[in-house]
Amino acid sequence: MTRVAVYSGSFDPITNGHMDILERGSHLFDKIYVCISSSREKKYLFDLPERQQLCSDALKSFSNIEVVSHSGLLVEFVKKVKAKYILRGLRSNQDFEYEKAMAVMNHKLYSDVETVLLMAGSEWSSLSSSLIKEVASHGGDISSFVPKAVFQALQKKF
Ligand code: ADP
Repeated sequence: MTRVAVYSGSFDPITNGHMDILERGSHLFDKIYVCISSSREKKYLFDLPERQQLCSDALKSFSNIEVVSHSGLLVEFVKKVKAKYILRGLRSNQDFEYEKAMAVMNHKLYSDVETVLLMAGSEWSSLSSSLIKEVASHGGDISSFVPKAVFQALQKKF
């Protein structure tokens, strides 16, 4: 049986925390779709093509990871690619409550899908895309927290 998972998120931008979840997930699943979400209500620093380009660039060495985008219900995308798993990362109690609500809802919407939560790597458990943007906007050195292309893209933005 081929194990297909979808790792969804904003990835604004992709960080080493996301990379760690994906690297570990790539050993658990035969195929992972990185599904970049876009919502009209959210304000992004990087637009969708930029987020997609940065993810593709960072993940080009993984033969079983594909970067795609989707707007609307995640389970619709999950059904479309015949995935059985939603992969997510867990950093804190705060993440837990949100991830639990999402997992329960997604299972109600599509009972064939299971959410698999991987604990954030200890190095990255306090890392978020928002914090990276905040620090980068004030000129802080975030080079050890993001892939190289993201570091360069952030330097250009600020
Ligand atoms: P969203 O807007 O859906 O929360 P994110 O891009 O912030 O999108 O996160 C996507 C997923 O990656 C979520 O499950 C989130 O908890 C997880 N994640 C984010 N940052 C990290 C990190 N530093 N370590 C592990 N998982 C993370």
